Amino acid sequence: MKTKIQIKTPLVELDGDEMTRIMWRMIKEKLLFPYLDLSVDYYDLHIKHRDETNDQVTADAAKAIMKYGVGVKCATITPNEERVREYELKKAWKSPNATLRAALDGTVFRKPISVRNIRPAVSSWKKPIIVGRHAYGDVYSSCEIQVDGPGTAELVFSPLSGKSIRKKIHFFSSPGILQAIHNTDESIASFARSCFAFALDQKIDLWFSTKDTISKTYDGRFREIFSREYEHFWKEAFQQAGIEYFFTLIDDAVARIMKSEGGILWALKNYDGDVMSDMIASANGSLAMMTSVLVSPQGYFEYEAAHGTVQKHYYRHLQGKETSSNSTALIFAWSGGLRKRGELDATPEVVMFADFLEAAALETIESGIMTGDLLLVADPGPNNRKVNTEEFIEVVATNLEKKLT
Ligand code: NAP
Ligand code: MG
Repeated sequence: MKTKIQIKTPLVELDGDEMTRIMWRMIKEKLLFPYLDLSVDYYDLHIKHRDETNDQVTADAAKAIMKYGVGVKCATITPNEERVREYELKKAWKSPNATLRAALDGTVFRKPISVRNIRPAVSSWKKPIIVGRHAYGDVYSSCEIQVDGPGTAELVFSPLSGKSIRKKIHFFSSPGILQAIHNTDESIASFARSCFAFALDQKIDLWFSTKDTISKTYDGRFREIFSREYEHFWKEAFQQAGIEYFFTLIDDAVARIMKSEGGILWALKNYDGDVMSDMIASANGSLAMMTSVLVSPQGYFEYEAAHGTVQKHYYRHLQGKETSSNSTALIFAWSGGLRKRGELDATPEVVMFADFLEAAALETIESGIMTGDLLLVADPGPNNRKVNTEEFIEVVATNLEKKLT
């Protein structure tokens, strides 16, 4: 019998929905359980279980990450009206990611997973572009009203002491819509600090972009806080490391990104980071070729895939049809969590396992064995072969087995 690698401290596991839930299980069975004595603190975020617990399970999972420090999360459904009907839910529960990010604060870093036989769609990109996405506030915790008839919309702030501030937004003469968003100086400052620290650690330039020409107070405040943090705390270290902090308008940043070589950290507000990271992942081959980690200022880490539950493939699976879903980002969520756990527990064999697991997945793709999403964009090769969801994980398992013995 093989001796299994011990994980000293429980890893917090957040299970999810649809096709990613199926891949998650296969990864555990074929890539983890055979080699690891894996103690996990398990939370089932399946949409029905969130519904049964009135979403208490998501709150409990956030607490567990704060207790143990490292979590790995499968993709989950963010319910809308359609999903409420589909799963007969009590209500459209909040996005679990929004709940987790609100509890843990911090920044989501998203990095493309590169393989030799897939070239980025943008030919100038030689090195990865990492997105640092602010994980708090803005439209993800907005307050919205659908206005049915004529009336005045106002923005009101009532301080605990002193006079209220009141501003007219718009006089509606006919139906329309309204939205209010917020952020806090504290969260923006911790976002800035995580980005400066990450760029310095990786010795790469940091770009930050907002629309502060239009949103002078809101986006302007982001710019001000970044600039203040840089001048006071990071400038010298950046100069010594030979790296640069660069602020530019988001339109300009988008144009420059398309001509850059990559090898930068691009810090973005919550929504911008959501959208731009999907663009960068797709330009690197597939949504399934991007890692995502939430780093909180208190030093908690939550690893996940950047993509969703791959609903369309799941429906095909339910009809008994074959699927070819790519589990690479989910495998990297596990390896990321395990590596961090190993670093924190000072167990180098766990870190080594994480390295082998990633290498096994990359070698599989580089050997030409890949899922349908990648076959479309990979360099042609005599050994290129499309495999189904399970076969891909099985070949990764064979490659992993070779490395471990
Ligand atoms: P999605 O799951 O990211 O998938 C969108 C499309 O991208 C898929 O239909 C597929 O394209 C391709 N794709 C994504 N991941 C893939 C993979 N691993 N392998 C192969 N192809 C992949 O987004 P969605 O379908 O719009 O959203 C489904 C659910 O996920 C929603 O309920 C949403 O709320 C949730 N969601 C969760 C998270 C999260 O938990 N972090 C993030 C985003 C969305 P083809 O169909 O062309 O093959
Ligand atoms: Mg997105």
